[in-house]
Parts: sequence; structure tokens; C-alpha cells
Amino acid sequence: MTIGLKELLEKAEKKLAGVHPTVSAKARQLISLAYKEGINVIITQGLRTIEEQNALYAQGRTKPGKIVTNARGGYSYHNFGLAFDFAVLNADGSVNWNVDVKWKRVGQIGKSLGLEWGGDWKDFKDYPHFQMTFGLSLADLRAGKRPNIKEETKVAGYQLSEQEKKMIEELKKLGITDGKNPERTVNQLYLWKVVYAVIKSIREGKIK
Ligand SMILES: [Zn+2]
Repeated sequence: MTIGLKELLEKAEKKLAGVHPTVSAKARQLISLAYKEGINVIITQGLRTIEEQNALYAQGRTKPGKIVTNARGGYSYHNFGLAFDFAVLNADGSVNWNVDVKWKRVGQIGKSLGLEWGGDWKDFKDYPHFQMTFGLSLADLRAGKRPNIKEETKVAGYQLSEQEKKMIEELKKLGITDGKNPERTVNQLYLWKVVYAVIKSIREGKIK
């Protein structure tokens, strides 16, 4: 049985409802890139509401069943539409739940797209899980902070040049920036460059 890319993408849409547009776009890219390598990826979960998360947390604790999560409502990026879970399909279309080379390859592809992969976590390996935090902690999110529009311009895997790193260090010393997530947005880096150019001009006496 062969499954088409179109079919995989259509399947994914239902699960990606309510997921942040930047994150869902990455999920689609992930499916397409993996498909090119002969790996069929399905999305098994996207947004999980706080109520759903609490119900899941109760399982194996106050309700029957086995424990499946350590996160209470509001303690998972799924609760804010910033995470999704995947699984790899076998050739016959069934789900391959064994974490094998294909799963690991999908993890690599996701990371190349700028996603954080749960398979890299030290204490609790969550192989099916991808998330994108936009520099926001879960506490930030619980307090109502959300990724802003500018973050949409984030360039996946952007590498700072040595010159850019030096510039950020100097701006940090001057207290102009906290230097956090400099690659977070193209706009932000650009803004810092403008500020830096102005400082240099003042130092050189070009501006008084
Ligand atoms: Zn997950």
C-alpha cells in the first residue's frame, strides 16, 4: 500500500487545527521532507486544551489507566498550540511505534526546521514530540504572553556571524539588550544593528 503526500498532508490538517501557524507550517514541511526520504509521517496530536491536559494528567492518578503524562493543564506547550506529536507509518499504513532510525531521522529533519525535539530531552525522552517555544517559558504562557507577529520572521537555524556576536556582547555591556535569543527575529537583529551603528557614530564623533 502506498500512501501519497497529499493524503498525509490532508490527514495532518485535522490534527493541526488550533496550532500556531508558524508551528503548523513546520509540521507540513516536516511531512514533505520526510516523505522525500521515503518516511511517512502522521501527526497524532496538536493543540490540547488545558481541560484535556488535566483529564490526561488524572489518568493513572485519580482516574483508572496508566500514567501517560507528567504535565498538568498549562504545563505543556501543547496547551498553547506550540507543540505537536508525530508517528512514523509502516509500509502497510499501520503505525510503527518502535523508535527506530526513521523516527530519529524525523527528529533530525524537525530540528533542521528550527523545532525542538523531545527525543533530545535528557530526563524524559518524548520521541514523538516537537515544540517551538518562541523564547517563551510555560510560566510566560500561563501568564498570558504569546508569540508576537515579529517572531514569525524567525529564520530557522540562523547562525550568528562572529561580528554579530561581538556586537551583541557590546550591547549587553551597555545594557541596551539582554542578548537573549538574538536570532529570534530578523527584525530584532536588524534593530540591534541600527542601534549599534548609531553608538559607533557617536563614539567616533560623527554624531554629537
Ligand atoms: Zn507532545
